[in-house]
Amino acid sequence: MTSRVLIVDDNADLATTLRDVLVSAKAEGDSLVVDVAESGESALARAKETGFDVALVDVKLPDASGVDLIRPLRDASPNSEVVLITGFASMEAAIAALRAGAFAMILKSFRPDELVTTVRQALTKARLQREREELERRYRAVVDLTDVVVIALDAQDKVALFNRKAAELAGVSPDAAVGRDFVRAWIPRDDHARLGEALAVARRGRRVQSDIETGFVATGAAFARRVRWHLGPAIEEGGGEIVYGIGIDVTERRALEKRAADAEALSAMGTLALNLAHEIRNPLNAAKLQLHLLGKDVDKLSPEAETRASLHRRISIVGDEIARLNRLLSEFLELARPRGIAREPVHVGELVGSVLSFERESAEARGVRIVSDFAPGVAAIGDTEKLRQVVLNLVVNALEAMKDGGVLTARVAPDGDRIVIAIEDTGPGIDPAVRAQVFDPFFTTKEAGTGLGLSIVRKIIDQHGGDIRLDSELGVGTTVRVSIPTGR
Ligand code: ADP
Ligand code: MG
Repeated sequence: MTSRVLIVDDNADLATTLRDVLVSAKAEGDSLVVDVAESGESALARAKETGFDVALVDVKLPDASGVDLIRPLRDASPNSEVVLITGFASMEAAIAALRAGAFAMILKSFRPDELVTTVRQALTKARLQREREELERRYRAVVDLTDVVVIALDAQDKVALFNRKAAELAGVSPDAAVGRDFVRAWIPRDDHARLGEALAVARRGRRVQSDIETGFVATGAAFARRVRWHLGPAIEEGGGEIVYGIGIDVTERRALEKRAADAEALSAMGTLALNLAHEIRNPLNAAKLQLHLLGKDVDKLSPEAETRASLHRRISIVGDEIARLNRLLSEFLELARPRGIAREPVHVGELVGSVLSFERESAEARGVRIVSDFAPGVAAIGDTEKLRQVVLNLVVNALEAMKDGGVLTARVAPDGDRIVIAIEDTGPGIDPAVRAQVFDPFFTTKEAGTGLGLSIVRKIIDQHGGDIRLDSELGVGTTVRVSIPTGR
């Protein structure tokens, strides 16, 4: 490696002496380049042009003070050191020089070995700095290259480092992330406690035994990704404790696992169940017809009004039960039948609007006010009928949740290359204990529920390549957001 020394002195004799001492002390095989500049201005020009490792600068120059030259010289050539040469040195002058960033100060009456040693030390320091920087750059490149999330958090959960992947998931640049509260900015509320506990373990200097999985919500995004974290014990760094974490994005894997499990559950019900459902439908329709006729006959029989009313009540109960069975069958068939979807332009606002007017009466009967907020002209490529089913199921759930009235808000808005439909209610919310189950086929908390509504929603949204997000707070309400690609 070549070392570059820059001598800045207007005294040509001294400059030559300095150069001779350095060159004669140069070890065999080392390469040394010595430049000379006579003024501060030419020294800066040199530094910018070729750079240097160590500069020997006379304190008194024709156009500048050597002390004032230290900063600009070192800025012009990164990882460099400056040694000041002075005719006489007071304690104050030495301190001022060190404050200004000088490596050392040497008197003009120097001994050659003193000069050589000082310059060697300065060269070593400059080289170590350069090596450290290079090493850091290399680490950084490796960390940025990997497809895993790498983060470092300080003792207050503030981001000390985000690699490229972390920044990508967080929807910010790595630099913009530094200093922000990691947990508050990107982790869903539900996961705060668990992640907080794991971080506390890491800060006690212990390895977090089992990996934890949390959501990770990009700034401004509606949907959380799933990340599996591995946290190391805290490391003392720059006067503070830093916890390093590695995260793997498992969103797709989890979604696939869930879908595979559900598909398996459905296929386990099998063709037999499918056929059975079809078989039940015909006698059910016959029973419905017979019940209708029975009602007419009751009227014709005309015994006393009271008996007639009581018979009608029974008939209507049986009728309701048949209707419920019919609904269960259609929903089950919708879910189990492997049918493709249409790809046609869907005007999402219109579609949601038509479902809302269809349900208006039933909303009024419950004392529910409907608010809609649709971005104009939002359209996607998809299956109109199936998407109508999605919106209907969500709206019905919202209405059913608000037994004592409330507000149902329906929103349609574009989000990049997606469209988000949000159905929000002011109902009782969903118990966290069952939140994970609401999309399971046949899971219901309602007396007359089929438990298939949300399963159907999920199947249809999956078919459209979309996402579902459910936010619910007890006593406040529930918001279900589905997003589908515009498909353009
Ligand atoms: P069903 O409506 O027949 O019960 P779903 O699959 O539509 O079946 O919903 C499953 C369960 O999810 C419901 O029984 C209810 O407990 C819960 N749920 C769904 N939507 C809401 C909502 N908006 N508010 C409260 N709970 C809800
Ligand atoms: Mg439902």
